[in-house]
Amino acid sequence: MIQSERIRVLVTGATGRVGREVLAAVIRESDMELVGAVDPQGAGTGVGALLPNSSADMVVSADLWQTIAATRPHVMVDFTTPAVVVDNIRIAIEAGVCPVVGTTGIPETRIDEIRQLADDKKVGVLIAPNFAIGAVLMMEFAVKAAQYLPDVEIIELHHERKLDAPSGTALLTARKIVEAREAAAVGDDEPGSPESDQAVARGENYRGIRIHSVRLPGFVAHQEVIFGGLGQILTIRHDSTDRRSFMPGILLAIRKVRSLTGLVIGLEYIL
Ligand code: NAP
Repeated sequence: MIQSERIRVLVTGATGRVGREVLAAVIRESDMELVGAVDPQGAGTGVGALLPNSSADMVVSADLWQTIAATRPHVMVDFTTPAVVVDNIRIAIEAGVCPVVGTTGIPETRIDEIRQLADDKKVGVLIAPNFAIGAVLMMEFAVKAAQYLPDVEIIELHHERKLDAPSGTALLTARKIVEAREAAAVGDDEPGSPESDQAVARGENYRGIRIHSVRLPGFVAHQEVIFGGLGQILTIRHDSTDRRSFMPGILLAIRKVRSLTGLVIGLEYIL
């Protein structure tokens, strides 16, 4: 019975900032077994050398397809880059491996493609732009506030090496706010200040919601959702100060993804 075995986990982006934390987190869990680590960066490196105090003797591989064939994982955890993540997901689904994906910057059109493939192959897939429980709560509180305070802007702040902007969390927050407004029939015909062609420093416009992206050394992953009303400001802020903040959500996703039907987007649906 697959559910009573230890969950066999393969990590892609294994030598990256988040990937290393995932390796360590999976190794610590008694119901999981780390069976593969894939990353062209650092291929050939021993996993033990990446993790302090670990005696893991597995070697990082450059080839996902070969590693899947050799290790037969149940779940692939992907923290790579926008350029490769969809190919990795395709390879995993084709092989019957359930992807848990944290990589952000996947274009909307590719999401439809993943959904179709997951349905066709009957493989559970979880994509979450943010695996920190605090970030999920931030989005929920923002949805609540948007029903009463329609004027809102988002500031997201990340480390200087983040490839995509705006962040996946900011885009998902904005989408949820727009959907909440529509459901509550709250209008936002006059968002914020009047705009003109000269308004060049007003950030990304996601369906009427302005998103501002800061990229600086020192940040990990942070976001403010700022609501403005007559004589009042409401700020909802979340800070991930350490990448370990993502691990409980990722471990939960590893445990639940095989019971999902098709593609699910957002950690909130498995909490
Ligand atoms: P990172 O340090 O750059 O790590 C990504 C790693 O993936 C790099 O080592 C990269 O190698 C490697 N890679 C590139 N192509 C690959 C392939 N085909 N197969 C396997 N590995 C490959 O980035 P990070 O900070 O860990 O972030 C990774 C992603 O997770 C980003 O999209 C980020 O926005 C996202 N993220 C999500 C959450 C969440 O909660 N959902 C939290 C934090 C970060 P190269 O350096 O050679 O390209």
